[in-house]
Amino acid sequence: MKVPFLDLKQQHQAIRAEVLAALAATYDATRFCLGKDVEDFEKNFSTTFGYARTLGMNSGTSPLHLGSICGGFGPGDEIITTPFTFASSCWGISYVGATPVFVDVDTDTWCISPESISRAITPKTKGIVVVHIFGQPARMDEIMAIARKHKLFVIEDCAQAVGATYRGSPVGSLGDCGTFSFYPTKNLGACGEGGAFVSKHAAVMDKAQLLRVHGSPKRYTHTEVGFNFRMDGFQGAVLSIKLQHIARWTARRREIAARYRAEIIHPKIQLPVVPAHGESVWHQFTMLHPRRDALRTHLEQGGVGTEIIYPGPMHLQPCYASLGYEQGSLPVAEHASERCVSLPIFPELTDEQVAHVIASVNSF
Ligand SMILES: *Cc1c(COP(=O)(O)O)cnc(C)c1O
Repeated sequence: MKVPFLDLKQQHQAIRAEVLAALAATYDATRFCLGKDVEDFEKNFSTTFGYARTLGMNSGTSPLHLGSICGGFGPGDEIITTPFTFASSCWGISYVGATPVFVDVDTDTWCISPESISRAITPKTKGIVVVHIFGQPARMDEIMAIARKHKLFVIEDCAQAVGATYRGSPVGSLGDCGTFSFYPTKNLGACGEGGAFVSKHAAVMDKAQLLRVHGSPKRYTHTEVGFNFRMDGFQGAVLSIKLQHIARWTARRREIAARYRAEIIHPKIQLPVVPAHGESVWHQFTMLHPRRDALRTHLEQGGVGTEIIYPGPMHLQPCYASLGYEQGSLPVAEHASERCVSLPIFPELTDEQVAHVIASVNSF
């Protein structure tokens, strides 16, 4: 039996007719950049997940960049973040000339550890970029208590966590702003690039909205040096359709994760922990094994696709060599990077495929 790591085709075939009809309507109306389809999507996204307001953007990296600007980050400022993430989580910090300060992660969820944040605070610390990695909510109460004490601006990178909650609140609504990616492989994926920005502060939303389109409150007047971070009309149209299915898709991811957690029984595997404080949306089902390369080969031979997410933590990436971290600087993140392996977990997997993945892991 074949179980691909990820197959985008099934989902897109299932909704093909409704998506193509919506794209045709957008095409006929020539609503290519922002416009009604994006405005409708922004409203739908806000009501689906519980945000006051949403700004659609052209990627998940752009809202991270705007978050750094809204936080007032700049040269000389230290921004604490996690090394166990996709690179883009750190880019916003570097784009504005601030310095990323990498700290270690929790041993069970691999999200940034509040205790490690506390130890890294200096007079130069200005903010924190939290990542809800693999769809698992980070420990926001502890993080926000530190932020309040030291007056730090908190960005939540929710690229992998659309629909996840922390003590009943949607991720992205707890910090000063939240950012999303709709890259096709994400839980809510566009047919192309996309992203979104949310904030509980009206002034932050207004600023992000201004910067999204050339810093221009009114045509040909530019009050700030802005950007072109507009979302495409086509992406807004597709994403509104996908929002109608996201609850079902997330429920299916949770069902698969529950089976993996209950039925994978292996002495050397560390399974992901579901913390009591929140609900994961299982963007990835990532586990640790001391011989993960051999495990991967074994799974491959049984037709099961896997990925290593992420093989190289950010503090050891060549682009940040000048920061002076070395092997051993952040042992928990490095331990996870050396042992992690992610199993297939997309909603269209059949029960038979899930059973095959479990049997294949258990027979290693
Ligand atoms: C995907 C992702 C991003 C970036 O999103 P793009 O849409 O590719 O720009 C940022 N952070 C994390 C954690 C991601 O997984």
